[in-house]
Amino acid sequence: MTKFQIPKGTFDILPYGAEEPWQLSSLWSYAEDVIRCTALEYGYREIRTPIYEQTELFNRGAGESSDIVMKEMFTFEDKGGRSMSLRPEGTSAVMRAFVENNLSQLRPVHKLFYIAPMFRYDRPQAGRYRQHHQFGVEAIGVSNPAQDAEVIDLLCETYRRLGLKDLTVELNSVGDVPSRIAFKEALQNYLRPHFQELSPDSQTRFEKNPLRILDSKDPKDREILKNAPSILESLSESAKAHFDELRLLLDECSIAYHINDRIVRGLDYYNKTVFEVTAKIAGAQNALGGGGRYDGLIGSFDGPDLPGVGFGTGIERILQTMVSQNIPLPQEMRPLAYIIPFGDEAKAPCFKLATACRHQKIPAEIDLQSKKIQNGLQNAIKLSAKICVIIGSEELKKGVAQIKYLESRHQEEIPLDGLISFLKEQL
Ligand code: AMP
Repeated sequence: MTKFQIPKGTFDILPYGAEEPWQLSSLWSYAEDVIRCTALEYGYREIRTPIYEQTELFNRGAGESSDIVMKEMFTFEDKGGRSMSLRPEGTSAVMRAFVENNLSQLRPVHKLFYIAPMFRYDRPQAGRYRQHHQFGVEAIGVSNPAQDAEVIDLLCETYRRLGLKDLTVELNSVGDVPSRIAFKEALQNYLRPHFQELSPDSQTRFEKNPLRILDSKDPKDREILKNAPSILESLSESAKAHFDELRLLLDECSIAYHINDRIVRGLDYYNKTVFEVTAKIAGAQNALGGGGRYDGLIGSFDGPDLPGVGFGTGIERILQTMVSQNIPLPQEMRPLAYIIPFGDEAKAPCFKLATACRHQKIPAEIDLQSKKIQNGLQNAIKLSAKICVIIGSEELKKGVAQIKYLESRHQEEIPLDGLISFLKEQL
């Protein structure tokens, strides 16, 4: 018989027995709670969209020349012959939902967040999966640079609350349309003499989208780019004013950043502010998240012409960084009471006791399998229970339970009618 295997580039999140500590579900739910709480406190509200959309949505949103659309989409035809794709990034889907549900009619400003799986058919490698999860936010309706600063601060504050250290915020501006027209020309003029030496991907981008060449990972491209002009020199007056004001606000709030004029981000919709946050682990920089401003994107989805700014950060990368930086991880949930019935006649009273405990919010487990008390005690130790409650026919006759503290091994008798109150005191 075939033994099924998990699809390549994906992983299970397990309650125990995980190969790596970042795959433990207790860590995921802890991080998601911190993330959700932080986003809510900053005024963001949760949005959930389907995991698949019309393929065309991502072509228009992320851009046909972006890697995730060109090379990495999980695309399939549905039974009606429509081309659909698993969501490779969050922003396009949120914009579709925003426009389709006419949310712009309801408020002047919209602050949305999501925690959701994303799918990219990438070559699986460390920190890169075919299904990964992102926490993302979209702030719609405000063109003021203070909105960009808020989004960057929220990202940093979320990392801070999760205990991450040694983070670097890299900041750049890709300007507005006039800035990019000017820069495109300057960059093409610089690259033209090197055209033949550029990688095939960069050659393709030369005419269509030369800015993305700055993003190239190809070593030869990177060498050529060393002396390329900076986009910051081509910023229009208004794009420069936006960037300067953002920097001022970040300085005032003591949010440290580095200017990196090579950051353009992989998606086509960004303008003005772009940023990335990396964490230092074992001497290397690990990209945790990034985002930017996308004024004009909602308009391109036939929605109102509202400005927007947001980010996406990978939850796998966050958790892996927490583990690498030795940040204390949350403890697995453990039962307070592990109830062991001794003999058949104790089974029903013990089950009744376990049920009563649970109704009183006392985490309790009952041993329904073991034939011997010793096996029950071993199970209790495996679950890291605090107390074992042992009840047999003798105890029932006397109206008591044997209580054993698993750490100290201390044992005592507690009357059955006071047992729930006793356990509550141990919480
Ligand atoms: P991007 O939209 O490509 O900037 O992705 C935002 C964040 O999602 C990145 O900074 C990573 O933390 C995470 N991420 C993107 N692609 C992957 C992937 N294939 N596997 C794991 N995490 C990813």
